[in-house]
Amino acid sequence: MYKNASELIDLCKENNKKIHDIALEKEKGLTGLKEEEVRKIYRDRIKIMRDSSLETLNKAVPSVSGLTSGTAKRLMEYIKRGKTILCQDTLYSVARAFSCFEVNASMGKIVAAPTAGSCGILPACLFTVEEKENISEEILENAFITATAIGDIIEQNATLSGAEGGCQAECGSAAAMASGALVYMLGGKINQIFHAASMTITNVMGQVCDPIAGLVEIPCAKRNAIGVVNALLCADLALAGIECIVPFDEVVEAMYNIGKSLPAELRETGLGGLAGTPTGAKIRKKIFGE
Ligand code: SF4
Repeated sequence: MYKNASELIDLCKENNKKIHDIALEKEKGLTGLKEEEVRKIYRDRIKIMRDSSLETLNKAVPSVSGLTSGTAKRLMEYIKRGKTILCQDTLYSVARAFSCFEVNASMGKIVAAPTAGSCGILPACLFTVEEKENISEEILENAFITATAIGDIIEQNATLSGAEGGCQAECGSAAAMASGALVYMLGGKINQIFHAASMTITNVMGQVCDPIAGLVEIPCAKRNAIGVVNALLCADLALAGIECIVPFDEVVEAMYNIGKSLPAELRETGLGGLAGTPTGAKIRKKIFGE
């Protein structure tokens, strides 16, 4: 139906439709489901995402490895003290991303959108803006479908996997999905949606995947945090009329080329980057022994 952003934009313009309309058509064609059935699946996923984005805001839940615990709660307590550098909405959004992440690390239920390691970014961004701007349920649903279309294009032309393309492909893609969806939610045009997504990936290009001890915890939670801030920023930039000079499809191709040129140590093997530091090696030894 469409292989890249350029084809999707053309389809939208030729048929006077939005990205979510075309993405829904594609989903119906692939699954044989009716539109209401596809939307029901989205609604079920949105509920899981909402629940996980709230679950650990007020209670510390340790990860299975014991490496991390209570980040969302600590950030919420800091926000409540009222003196923060970033605005409180942005930090609240980050706290919700931490919550999703902590639910994942404690083997709770999350939606891997697009992956478990990047699961906090999309819900955190969309729910925070939904609540702040009083967005309707239908627009929220359409925003998640728009995000899916952006992720689908990245997957078709590059990768969403840290093991294949580094963290730029995983958290970078999640943030691009979120920023594009935010622009849709706030009434932006199709071109602005892809400018936001392009700028978001551009900002993290080359980001490596280096989880300590090979566990999706450190630095992954903080990569979700910066993914949230990146997505919020780029959505605002695009809505302000600021453009990414390089089109989305070329940005995705460049990201993929960078990913393929990364050494194996920096692609989720838990050997290079932060995982390869003396501290990273010490933690690995403590958990897994020699
Ligand atoms: S560092 Fe690797 S494992 Fe961690 S979130 Fe990024 S891509 Fe996923």
